Amino acid sequence: MAVTKNETTLLKNFINGQWVKAESHEALEVQNPATREILATVPISTLQDVNKAVTAARKAFESWKDVPVPKRARILFKYHHLLTENHDELAKLIVLENGKAFKEAHGEVQRGIECVEFAAGAPSLMMGESLSSIAENIDSEMFRYPLGVVGGITPYNFPMMVPLWMFPLAVACGNTFVLKPSERTPMLANRLAELFTEAGAPNGVLNIVHGAHDVVNGLITHNDIKAISFVGSQPVAKYVYEQAASKGKRVQALSGAKNHHFVMPDADMEKAVNHVISSAYGSAGQRCMACSAVVVIGDNDEFVSELKKKADELHIGNGMDEEVLLTPVIRKEHREKALRYIEKGIEEGADLIRDGRKEMDIMTEGHYLGPTIFDYVSPDMTIAKEEIFAPVLSLLRAKDLDEGLDYLRKSRFGNGATIYTKDAKAVRQFREEADAGMLGINVGVPATMAFFPFSGWKDSFYGDMHVNGKDGVNFYTRKKMITSRFDF
Ligand code: NAD
Repeated sequence: MAVTKNETTLLKNFINGQWVKAESHEALEVQNPATREILATVPISTLQDVNKAVTAARKAFESWKDVPVPKRARILFKYHHLLTENHDELAKLIVLENGKAFKEAHGEVQRGIECVEFAAGAPSLMMGESLSSIAENIDSEMFRYPLGVVGGITPYNFPMMVPLWMFPLAVACGNTFVLKPSERTPMLANRLAELFTEAGAPNGVLNIVHGAHDVVNGLITHNDIKAISFVGSQPVAKYVYEQAASKGKRVQALSGAKNHHFVMPDADMEKAVNHVISSAYGSAGQRCMACSAVVVIGDNDEFVSELKKKADELHIGNGMDEEVLLTPVIRKEHREKALRYIEKGIEEGADLIRDGRKEMDIMTEGHYLGPTIFDYVSPDMTIAKEEIFAPVLSLLRAKDLDEGLDYLRKSRFGNGATIYTKDAKAVRQFREEADAGMLGINVGVPATMAFFPFSGWKDSFYGDMHVNGKDGVNFYTRKKMITSRFDF
């Protein structure tokens, strides 16, 4: 909902090491999804704000690129220390503005810290290559250099981890950064900047411009931005990729998902049920690696009835309550969209075996939706094809793994997929044939760690170098080749 300025704390942009008011008169409420309490307001910054931040980042780049790599790494070591020291406080802030459970938020902070840990290895990560005597008296060397100013655009569902996928590694590689956090979860980004400053980051190395599409458009078209890291929904990811690439920028755009979990007849049923429940309903289904489609192989009604039983027993509520697994979705509008998908599922003939709408009558304070399960969903139904990003799970039935893998092959998304089985032959077939970039074998959320690429396929990713791991280093650096002879 739009509000006028000054009704509550108006967040500031962070430009050149200063907290500055946005030029805009427009602002949005930042709401606690569990209570609807207004936590702050966030400015919808203008192109002018973007230009100021990019100018500061470009100026800072001139000196930052020449700071010795080990010195840059030392700032990241300090940052790592500060984030660790403030682990609980950061997790609480995530719960407040995002709504997820404290345990999950705590895990998210840990994942973010691990990105800083990885980036602190910059002296090794940025090493080039060399070969003497590529011809008589001739040697060849490769050095890595930063690109310049990098822009980062992030979603609401991981307000800490996703920004930390980006700027620590980018700046460790010698770039400077302009971050546009999600306007729905902007508070944590400001805390990240405060701690980065405390760690010794010079002015202008990290800048934050709050806002929405105007800021995004400003970043993806600005001549001084050399690369864009984007994470968000599929239509926006595609748009950002196309627009920024057409301006000659390097782009990595991580997008939506429909993650299939395959339950084989020989799976440990109790573990499979627990993994699916936690993957599908943790963070209220708002994880890009959430299980949103289960492919039940064979006639496995036992799995389905156990799953429903567990869903009935789920604790729903405010993320600060320790017992809770299922928390609210981010906004009223987001829940309304999920409700339209539930209607669509019924209309298209899927069997609604658990209706989470009934919990909405009890949990009226926040944007709650109870665990919802559709059985006998066919792959061509809307709820099987589209990302719902809410606690709405589709069960598809397949006679064997071949048929199940075909469902995944036909999905436009390919972020993650998991198989539950003890059968080595099925595991091998799954590993070789599953059409997705991050696979789990008896693992509910096969998200990769910071030293490996976060590796979505198909419409789950636009670009070629993924975030994190060596891909991340390649993305944030350019290579210079030197061929030399000294036989004079
Ligand atoms: P979103 O696309 O609505 O927003 C992402 C960012 O883009 C935000 O900063 C937002 O301000 C901006 N934006 C939104 N609409 C825009 C427009 N029309 N023009 C320009 N900019 C725009 O995504 P979200 O709802 O914040 O996040 C959830 C989505 O992110 C889900 O689809 C989820 O799968 C995806 N996601 C993917 C990954 C991954 O690794 N693939 C990780 C996390 C989230």
